[in-house]
Amino acid sequence: MSNEKTYKGGCFCGSVQLTVTGAPVGAGYCHCDSCRSWSAGPVNAFTLWQPGAVKVTKGADNIGTYNKTVHSYRKWCKTCGGHLFTEHPGMGVTDVYAATIPEFPYQAGVHVHYQETRLPMKDGLPKMRDLPKEMGGSGITIAE
Ligand SMILES: [Zn+2]
Ligand SMILES: [Zn+2]
Repeated sequence: MSNEKTYKGGCFCGSVQLTVTGAPVGAGYCHCDSCRSWSAGPVNAFTLWQPGAVKVTKGADNIGTYNKTVHSYRKWCKTCGGHLFTEHPGMGVTDVYAATIPEFPYQAGVHVHYQETRLPMKDGLPKMRDLPKEMGGSGITIAE
């Protein structure tokens, strides 16, 4: 047993609900073309969790999945189309979008895929050209 905190979240319509428990392994903003195209937003606020920390508590059979590559399995609610999370099996983490878990005290630590940005942000956080080395990237940072 542990006293780790659990935070509730869900899709736009509430058909799918989930929880995350403990602390994420990372959080930040992704500026990549894939996130932008799929989310229809200029940037994606992500939180990365060990897969076991993410539990679907309602509507598991109402979740759609699409994977363009073997790296990312994108999940959404089949009723409202609201986005939920993306599984990254290669990296061994699940990205729960910050907007999906409004209770969670989201704090960005890094910007990733900043070379693809359409919405530059001068917030003083590190800007990775692609990804940190430990996530399979170059680890190179670029100027704001
Ligand atoms: Zn929904
Ligand atoms: Zn992305």
